[in-house]
Amino acid sequence: MTETIEAPAALRQINHWIGGHSVAGTSGRKGPVYNPATGRQSGEVGFATVEEVDAAVQAAKAAFVTWREVSLAKRAELFFRIRELVHERRDEMARILTSEHGKVLSDATGEVTRGLEVIEFCCGLPTLLKSEFSEQASTGIDVYSIRQPLGVVAGITPFNFPAMVPMWMWAPAIACGNTFVLKPSEKDPSASVWTAELLKEAGLPDGVFNVVHGDKVAVDAVLEHPDIAAVSFVGSTPIARYVYEKATANGKRCQALGGAKNHMIVLPDADIDMAADAAVSAAYGSAGERCMAVSMLVAVGAVADPLIEAIKERIPKVKVGDGLDPSSEMGPLITREHREKVASYLDEGKVLVDGRENCPDEGFFLAPSLIDDLKPGMRAYEDEIFGPVLGVTRVDTYDEAVRLVNESPYGNGTAIFTRDGGVARQFEFDAQAGMVGINVPIPVPVAYYSFGGWKGSLFGDRHIYGPEGIDFYTRGKVVTSRWPDPATSKVDLGFPQTR
Ligand code: NAD
Repeated sequence: MTETIEAPAALRQINHWIGGHSVAGTSGRKGPVYNPATGRQSGEVGFATVEEVDAAVQAAKAAFVTWREVSLAKRAELFFRIRELVHERRDEMARILTSEHGKVLSDATGEVTRGLEVIEFCCGLPTLLKSEFSEQASTGIDVYSIRQPLGVVAGITPFNFPAMVPMWMWAPAIACGNTFVLKPSEKDPSASVWTAELLKEAGLPDGVFNVVHGDKVAVDAVLEHPDIAAVSFVGSTPIARYVYEKATANGKRCQALGGAKNHMIVLPDADIDMAADAAVSAAYGSAGERCMAVSMLVAVGAVADPLIEAIKERIPKVKVGDGLDPSSEMGPLITREHREKVASYLDEGKVLVDGRENCPDEGFFLAPSLIDDLKPGMRAYEDEIFGPVLGVTRVDTYDEAVRLVNESPYGNGTAIFTRDGGVARQFEFDAQAGMVGINVPIPVPVAYYSFGGWKGSLFGDRHIYGPEGIDFYTRGKVVTSRWPDPATSKVDLGFPQTR
């Protein structure tokens, strides 16, 4: 049964979170927040001014002084508490995600669970921050390295993972001793405020985690703020490039993850049913609004016709509906505008399944769609559609398939389906993408590896979370130390040499 959502008497106001408190926006500029399953507005979020962003940065700057002094043991203890709270309340968080983003509850729970894995990784922070020590590097001299936090760091996040992507950032940043300012997507901002309340309840000191909502004004204020040392960004490629260029021009460390167009290659020897199950799951899960969604199927040789038939059989069985209904498998898109843009790709190419038919009337729904015979140069082939539209391109050989993957301006994820281990290994060697799946359609790395693409899918040289996340949020220092007998001291103007 679909739960009925009462129309709110007054629109819910979503506030900033600064210095450990909820703070109403003062700019007068606001954005609507919808329940995409009903199409009705459920809240509104105030957009921050430059001064409000500065207030959050000042709170974070003040908190950094004491937060960086908290021992690793106490920080780890706090992370275990955070882990327990998120784990206990993940259903609550999932409902918030579903009612603002639209993804179905099981998917929303999966999002929280994958974010939780990053928090669990951070519980090991004393080990992660261990450094190196070389005794007697030179006679009587020891050398050791330490990693220290950067200071105030910021995260700017997209609408499609309103809980998990912020967790990729704030968890390692805070574990490493930094303080954090989050600018979440204005389309589904409640998860970040919920997170702020939970972190406070877990015992995180005020000012260590702050949230400012908003649009370009808030983003630019972050990118220009002299007290912000580093910026992590996840979103579309044009904005990622902009953020990277502006942040680095302002002297900040920056990692900016962009969009994607992920190809899944199916070789003639692949198991057709397994490949069809994988393609349907990876193309239509979360209504295709995942940066790791499969959006292009590259069918090699004779596999194309039976594979397409198997996919066409599965599509009508995908239950499209309100994400709060536990039987729904695919929810709506994020906004009406985005739904219309995605639907416009169905005006070109050989459309085999048109999702404009058979989808719920209210809300921002588009049912799973399938287009055959797409080729480079066509709009639906080139663009990141970010919706439930799977394109198929047919090629004759493995080499042609790999060329398509490697000629893409994006390089986030890619996958190959085959029973031939030798070809799979060759693909892992050849593919120009940051994350490769072998018979795995959505190869999102586990939390103790790092996540990130190549080419237009990542600007910067550090992937996010995992070991590279720890590197990103710390900077190295090397100490050379000696405790000689002062009686042996003398002036020596030569360049120091090891002895
Ligand atoms: P988006 O680029 O529109 O927005 C991302 C963030 O940038 C938001 O916080 C938004 O407020 C801000 N922003 C938007 N326009 C801006 C502008 N002109 N100037 C400054 N800031 C601006 O992305 P989205 O639509 O929220 O999210 C979907 C995109 O994110 C897709 O392209 C998807 O592939 C990508 N994404 C990538 C990854 C990854 O890991 N590579 C993960 C998730 C999503």
